[in-house]
Amino acid sequence: MPDQSLDKEIFNTKSSQKGINRRSFIGGMTALGVSGIASSFTLPVKVSFLPLQEANHKVIRNGYVLTMDAQRGNLPRGDVLISGGKITAVGEKLEVPAGTEEVNAENMMVLPGFVETHWHIWNSLMRSLIGSKPGVGYFEMKDLIGQHFRPQDTYAATRFAVAEALNSGITTLHDWNHNVRGPEYAEASLRALKELGIRGRFSQGQAAAGEPYVDLELLEHLHQHWADYSNEGLLKLGLASARITDDDPKRKKEVIKARELGLPVSVHADTLSGFEDLLGNDFQIIHAMEMDKKAFEKMAKTGASVSFSPFSEMRIGFGLPPVVDALNSGVSIGLSVDTTPLSGNADMFALMKVFLNLTNGMAQDEFKVSARSVLEIATNEGARSLGMENVCGSLTPGKRADVIMVSVKDINMGVLTDPENLLVLSAQPANVDSVLVDGKFRKRNGQLVGINQEEIISEARGSLNYLLKKSGW
Ligand SMILES: [Zn+2]
Repeated sequence: MPDQSLDKEIFNTKSSQKGINRRSFIGGMTALGVSGIASSFTLPVKVSFLPLQEANHKVIRNGYVLTMDAQRGNLPRGDVLISGGKITAVGEKLEVPAGTEEVNAENMMVLPGFVETHWHIWNSLMRSLIGSKPGVGYFEMKDLIGQHFRPQDTYAATRFAVAEALNSGITTLHDWNHNVRGPEYAEASLRALKELGIRGRFSQGQAAAGEPYVDLELLEHLHQHWADYSNEGLLKLGLASARITDDDPKRKKEVIKARELGLPVSVHADTLSGFEDLLGNDFQIIHAMEMDKKAFEKMAKTGASVSFSPFSEMRIGFGLPPVVDALNSGVSIGLSVDTTPLSGNADMFALMKVFLNLTNGMAQDEFKVSARSVLEIATNEGARSLGMENVCGSLTPGKRADVIMVSVKDINMGVLTDPENLLVLSAQPANVDSVLVDGKFRKRNGQLVGINQEEIISEARGSLNYLLKKSGW
């Protein structure tokens, strides 16, 4: 959600804190003699997270394979061969190297993992906290609670959200962090993202309240030393800029700085007013609530993308996202969780379904958008919108192996005729049997792998209790 609080003068407590954080941050780095972010806050040792010993070669056999690759289509009984984290072959009855691990995908649909395109992961602790009357609305609560965050709360929230994402078949996400209250907060996010092994973009934004601009010095530092944080290329860096307006040149400067560094940009915006000249294929616009077909066509021409989060847009009363105009314009579209305090959960199946229903409802046309098109938006279109189309989004040999297996045996599934319809209209996260990111199992046989769910929940509760107390709740 956009940060509407920025125009109000509230919780302006950050600047002095920031100086301390930066000193300890730089000091810690020097002490360690390394270029990476030093551990300037204490975290418990995670004995539950063990390195995964997995076969280098794996073959997923006899699944209903939806490659989401226009050249390859669907294989009703197909195999996917994975070697060293990469997809090396997709076909029927594949011959495989000696020592290849066989993974049985009978009664499973096999498809690329979902690509989520905008999510304020840090506030996932606030699920269920947003009320239905003034005083306890989303923006008020976000700013109230957000100002008390410690780095370990960001860490706990990130683990909480990422574990849920993996459990529901999301293999790539966009961590749009607009509560980076100091370097340690970026460190906490990046550490959690790395530990849980998800692919994604970490976009550095401002702090939730009291700080209207992004710390560009930190962004530059992260960029320079990104090799230390990128988890061998799984994580990318970007800029999360607040609303850009004509009368605020500093926001434009943020975008220009990001461009100098070669980093992609993401902004909350409802119109193109004030920044049309900045559009490009590295530019993502979130919500776009007041845009029409013409505006989306302008975006499409430059390669810019739009991210819709229908659940939060409706829940907070923004209205219905202009999905029909966006589809008609040819702009690249991604789906987003946005914020679980409003959207409730990280469920790409539900997002696909609401997108399809909204589109057909608004167009008053039963056939306006197909389940196939919506599945493309949740996979390869999402990857395109994050600039990762050569890495993930389809089961194409040469891409990294981000693969999910969805069971058709469960009671809400059971009968398979059209796999796209079944995935978009009937499937739920509970049907996700297995998830691989970069060729490694993160969920298998319905259970998260290498992730202690109870510990993550307990940490999230601990952090929330602390934050509520500090907030006088
Ligand atoms: Zn947002």
